[in-house]
Order: sequence, then structure tokens, then C-alpha cells
Amino acid sequence: MNSDTILSINKLVAGYGETEILHKISISVNKNEIVSIIGPNGAGKSTILKAILGTLNIKSGEIFLKKTKINGVKPSDVVKKGVGYVPQTDNVFVSLSVHENLEMGAWTIENNLNDKFEELYNLFPDLKDKKKQLAGQLSGGQRQMLAMAKALILDAKVLLLDEPTAGLSPKYRLEIFDTIQRINKSGLPILMVEQNAKQALQISHRGYVLVDGSNRYTGTGAELSADPEVARMFLGSRG
Ligand code: ADP
Repeated sequence: MNSDTILSINKLVAGYGETEILHKISISVNKNEIVSIIGPNGAGKSTILKAILGTLNIKSGEIFLKKTKINGVKPSDVVKKGVGYVPQTDNVFVSLSVHENLEMGAWTIENNLNDKFEELYNLFPDLKDKKKQLAGQLSGGQRQMLAMAKALILDAKVLLLDEPTAGLSPKYRLEIFDTIQRINKSGLPILMVEQNAKQALQISHRGYVLVDGSNRYTGTGAELSADPEVARMFLGSRG
């Protein structure tokens, strides 16, 4: 393993009950990278995130966070070890304010968090103006930003995003992709699953195309975007 590798999945076989969904999947995320997983619906993209988080039964293969093997580790401990995760839906407490949501994200931490909150409000200036507003009253894009800020409270080593732009208008999509780049530039590697494949690849250092639970293509974001076969099959009308 390269010493810059933060997250690595090696020949992972996993699924639900007896049904095998992922067939010897290998994926890595290196220091400072944004990596996208794209592919058709049902390919197993979200299942990979669930496997990393420890909510799936892994049949074989390994998952490492830096040098620590994390398969078999329970989800709350995977998060404590430094895997930040933003689910696709239900990712904020709608009846709490923006600031209360951030406090909830920090419930396992006892020391003073004012510096951390300040750092997050600087990274997400839109949230700073809305500290006291209920999360349920935010726009879709702002809600997604709050979910990302919440996931960053625990000093993640890598951030997993499950379809961060799903259901958003083109304007908010752009804002979220900009925000993802900003988070990445602050020093955090990111692994995201995205349906808006074309735009996702534009901001990704590398990407993986997953089909039927297997690795099909991999390359830099630019290589995958320029590959006529990938473009024809996976970058059609969306994005
Ligand atoms: P993608 O994210 O690429 O759209 P998923 O990872 O959500 O794909 O799903 C991959 C396959 O796993 C699909 O065939 C889906 O029906 C199946 N699947 C997803 N969640 C479950 C579950 N909780 N139980 C059983 N099968 C599931």
C-alpha cells in the first residue's frame, strides 16, 4: 500500500444476506484526492459506502483506513476512527437549528468546540448567517452543506458522500460541487457516489465506474470523461 493511501478497499466481496452484490471490488482514496464512484442504478455504489461503514456482512476482502483494518469494526467505531459519512437523505435534524445540528454532531466530544464551530462556519459561510434557523427551513443545497459540516465535526480522515447533489437544482448542484472542492482543499480526501457523473468527474482527481458490482473502468477524472465508451454508456444526458 502506498503511504499516501488513506482508504483502501481490496477485493471486497459483500452483499445482503446470501445475495452477493459486490464482486472483488478494489478502490483507493489517496491523500488530497476527490474520488468518484459512478455507474448505473443498482450497480452497488451505495453498498460500497455501507461496507466501509460496517453495516454490511463482508464475505471476503479487506478495508483499511490508513494502516488500520476496519472491516468487522462496528459503525459507531468506524466513525470515531475518522470516517465521516453523509447519507443521501435524512441527514439533518429538521426540527433543530443549524447550530444545534452541529452540536448534535459533536455529542461524543467533551472539550470546548468553539474553535471547531468557527472553523466550520468559515468553511460554510452560508450556514454562519443561519445559525439560529431551523434546519427544516433551509434550501436543499444548504441542508446538504449542514449535513457535510456535521460530518466534519469529528475530525474525519476521509469523507464519504452518498449522492450529495441528488434532487438538487442545477444551481445548487454547482454550489455543492464547489463546496466539495473547498472541503477537499482544506486537506480532506473525499470519496463520493454520484448520479451526476459528468459533473462529478470534472471535480474528481480519479474515478471508478462500477457495473453489476464489479470494477469496469478506472482512471483520472479527465481520462474517464474523455473515454468515448464511458461517455456513451455513463455520461449521457445527465449533468
Ligand atoms: P447503487 O447505489 O449503485 O444504485 P445500491 O448499492 O443501492 O446501488 O444497490 C445495489 C444492489 O443491492 C441492488 O440490486 C439493490 O436492489 C440491492 N440492495 C440495496 N439495498 C439492499 C438491502 N437493504 N437489502 C437487499 N438488497 C439491497
